Parts: sequence; structure tokens; C-alpha cells
Amino acid sequence: ATPMSIMVATGRGAQAGVLIRDAEALERFAKVDVLVVDKTGTLTEGRPSLTDVIALGDHDETRVLALAAALERGSEHPLAEAILAGAEERGAPHLEATDFDAVTGKGVRGSVDGATVALGNARLMDDFGIDLAEVESRIAGLQNDGKTAMLLGVDGQLAGIVAVADRIKETTAGAIRDLHKAGLRIVMATGDSQRTAEAVARELGIDEVRAGVSPEDKAALIEELKGNGLSVAMAGDGVNDAPALAAADVGIAMGTGADVAVESAGVTLVKGDLRGIVRARVLAQATMRNIR
Ligand code: ADP
Ligand code: MG
Repeated sequence: ATPMSIMVATGRGAQAGVLIRDAEALERFAKVDVLVVDKTGTLTEGRPSLTDVIALGDHDETRVLALAAALERGSEHPLAEAILAGAEERGAPHLEATDFDAVTGKGVRGSVDGATVALGNARLMDDFGIDLAEVESRIAGLQNDGKTAMLLGVDGQLAGIVAVADRIKETTAGAIRDLHKAGLRIVMATGDSQRTAEAVARELGIDEVRAGVSPEDKAALIEELKGNGLSVAMAGDGVNDAPALAAADVGIAMGTGADVAVESAGVTLVKGDLRGIVRARVLAQATMRNIR
């Protein structure tokens, strides 16, 4: 590519809110076959809000929410924000947690009023020896609606379920449609549950889902696809996406996301609008055609 044609293309990209780091990122973009996308904050707004509070055993809803909020006060996860805002809105009393710990990819734990309390996914409950058989169908119901269900354990007993929902960005469906038209295969990779992920994938017509994955699993998925001879782009917003963004042929960060994501990527979508990927690909291919 001539320096001039690259400059023109990156300039046009910038005007459309797509920052392309260098010639290499532009060249690779033209050849992409598969796009791997993170769910939370990439396909969705990343600002979930509280939808359901279910109390179990001798707990009541207010207590469930107050305990959940006590733990989430120590977390920076978007799920934590949703629960704290919901607790405040619904007037749950303020409880203090001590010995707080964030368990990456699983949830949060701590002590409240002398009880050991944990809030997170099924894997976290498993760590505390809490069985979910009795609530499996309720969890499935929430997840089939695309909600993320979190379980609350108190002293080894299941005490409640809280669920949040995260809206799909207005621009996502159109972007996915156009990327499909351009012949790309689209794979969702998320730390969220299989059912929740599939509900979102169904709504958007996404081809394939890898759910319950850790940041390392996301990077391994990229390597697996590259190993099959495919040229792979990865779009993500979070700290947990950074390894996958770095591993991809083209890393695409949401400008609205974490700094490490942007630093790990060759392309940044300033407003987190996935339609920028369609634009960037058209630009990249036009530039590459001109120089051959
Ligand atoms: P994602 O890839 O969707 O951003 P993460 O890897 O951050 O997901 O988290 C995976 C799952 O672990 C979440 O869907 C949730 O069930 C649980 N989890 C993580 N952090 C928290 C938290 N602060 N509070 C409750 N649950 C959490
Ligand atoms: Mg995310």
C-alpha cells in the first residue's frame, strides 16, 4: 500500500469514528473471514439494570437485595453497578461487607453480619457446595429471556436469585446483518451463561456461541480459529477481552470500554458502534484493491 492511500483511508476512517492504528491493521482488515465478538458492552450497552429479585428459604426480597448490594459495593463489574442502583431504587437497607473478595469470572464473596455470603454464577455456588437443582428451571426461565441470573448463597445455603438485563445496542442488529452480507462468520464469546448468550445470539442471528469462557479461553478460541487457516478479527470492550484482542489478526476495541482493551487493539470504534467494522472493511478492501 502506498503511504498516501493508507493516509486517505485512515483519515476517512477517523471521520467515521474508526481509528486505525497503522497500515498493517488496515491490510489485515481487508482479509478477515471471522469476527469474534464479546457480548457485554460490545453487542449490548454494557449498562445492565436490575429486573428480578427472588427470595428463597426464610429470606425476604429486601434482605436478598441488601446482601447482594453489600458485596457488590466492593466490585467494579458492570453487574455490580446494576445491583447497587437497583438496591438504592428499591430502598434496600445498607449493610457492610468485610473480607471482600472478587472471584474473576465467577462473582463476589465476603462476610456480612457474621455470615459468609457469595453472589455470582453456578460455578461460584459450586465452590461453596451449594446445589442448584431446585431452582434450575427458574434460572433457565430468566436466562431464556436473555437475562443474567446471579445466585446468592448465605452460609452454604441458597438464599436468593437476582437477575439483570442489558439492552442490545441500537446499532448492533444492522451491523451484524451487514457483516453477514459481507460474508463474515460471526462468533460470540462471553463469560455469561450458555442460555443467556444463546438468547442474545438468537435475537441477532449470530452463527455460533462460546459461553462461560474466561479471558484466556477467549484468546485460545482466537488461536484455534487462526489455526484453522482463518483470518480472525476480535471485537471487545473489557479488561477480560485484552488477551483475545492482542491474539487476533485484527483487534477491535470499543472506545467506550477499558483502556487496556484500546491499547491491545489495532482498531478502535470511537463510539462503540459496530457499524464501524463494516465501514472499516469497505475502506480496507478499497485501499488494497487500489494498490494491486
Ligand atoms: P463477560 O465476559 O460477560 O464480561 P465475566 O467474565 O466478567 O463476563 O463474568 C462472568 C460471569 O461471572 C458473569 O456473567 C456473572 O455471572 C459472574 N460475575 C462476574 N463478576 C460478578 C459480580 N461482580 N457480581 C456477580 N456476578 C459476577
Ligand atoms: Mg464486555
